[in-house]
Amino acid sequence: HDGPIETDAVIVGAGPVGLFQVFELGLLEIKAHVIDSLGYPGGQCVELYPDKPIYDIPAVPVCTGQELTDNLLKQIEPFGATFHFGQEVTEVRPQDDGRFYVETSRGTRFLTRTIFIAAGVGAFQPRTLKVDGLEKFEGSQVFYRVKNPADFAGKNLVIVGGGDSALDWTLQFAQEGPNRAESVILLHRRDGFKAAPASVAKMHELCDAHEMQFSVGQVTGYEEKDGKLTGVKVTGSDGVTRLMPLDVLLVFFGLSPKLGPIAQWGLDIERKQLKVDTEKFSTNVPGIFAVGDINTYPGKKKLILSGFHECALAAFAAAPFIFPEKKIHLQYTTTSPKLHKVLGVE
Ligand code: FAD
Repeated sequence: HDGPIETDAVIVGAGPVGLFQVFELGLLEIKAHVIDSLGYPGGQCVELYPDKPIYDIPAVPVCTGQELTDNLLKQIEPFGATFHFGQEVTEVRPQDDGRFYVETSRGTRFLTRTIFIAAGVGAFQPRTLKVDGLEKFEGSQVFYRVKNPADFAGKNLVIVGGGDSALDWTLQFAQEGPNRAESVILLHRRDGFKAAPASVAKMHELCDAHEMQFSVGQVTGYEEKDGKLTGVKVTGSDGVTRLMPLDVLLVFFGLSPKLGPIAQWGLDIERKQLKVDTEKFSTNVPGIFAVGDINTYPGKKKLILSGFHECALAAFAAAPFIFPEKKIHLQYTTTSPKLHKVLGVE
């Protein structure tokens, strides 16, 4: 159907705290939709430190960022949350009937009774190449992510960056295969990479075999003809600027978090954080809660364990919005038959 998705709860952000919010809502029999601008769950844990050990999760002596995320996903499985990845929540608007209208950058729409903002340090978005005017080619000839590699097959590509994404796509397009480009130039500001050594070695091998080129330099300008981008001006380490002709420019500068549209939803903000109380973790708008790194209150510590506690209290505070008639009692997962039923462990 074409109308908005009607639901009891929308969680903005699939970081560790957004994931645990699913659990705490689930115990109270509240189903949730979870949205993240990234293409996968885990937030900072997966985007910034998937392989680093975390030592301060209660009763988990050590686990990596990725392991924590995997375990949270397993823990929330019984609650059947619906995930919407690769889209940013752009709009939140209160409705006359007390619900909220929520819309994402991909046009997914919701009508929800409650919202849990677990947006951490903001939506992770690709860092852009800062060259005046270049933005008008975004989506036609300049790209910060590859959705469909076949779109670039047979083209003359310039790929900018020195991390794993830049190297992985370079190898994909420069080598024999269905998506092979006409030509590939990898451009990086220095002759040193933050990528898997095997990929770097393979790239040098392809250069030696004249299958592609590697160039040290930075994009400082561009040329266009009849509204089409025809080449980029590249300033090399020798200070000389040269023209590099191309069909498509692919830029992989990594992701950085941006608070973005959250600032426009009419919520009290203090130094890029949402102000909440410590009883309900409610924002100034009843029905909109904020948990995890995105919120602030006296004594706030940006720790995962604090976020988990906030989820529990926010869920209890949200229940009256969804079940106004129902009295909600605290129950133990150890002994409550009702919780065993919702957890599917009868
Ligand atoms: P995040 O993990 O930031 O997740 C927020 C998610 O929301 C992101 O995926 C983002 O893309 C998404 N989002 C934001 N805005 C929108 C929007 N408008 N639409 C859609 N999606 C949106 N903490 C500890 O407790 N112990 C540690 O040992 C520890 N080590 C750390 C090491 C490093 C290197 C770093 C950087 C942090 C560490 N932290 C640690 C902090 C911990 O990672 C954060 O406290 C935690 O990730 C916060 O979780 P969160 O779910 O609130 O936010």
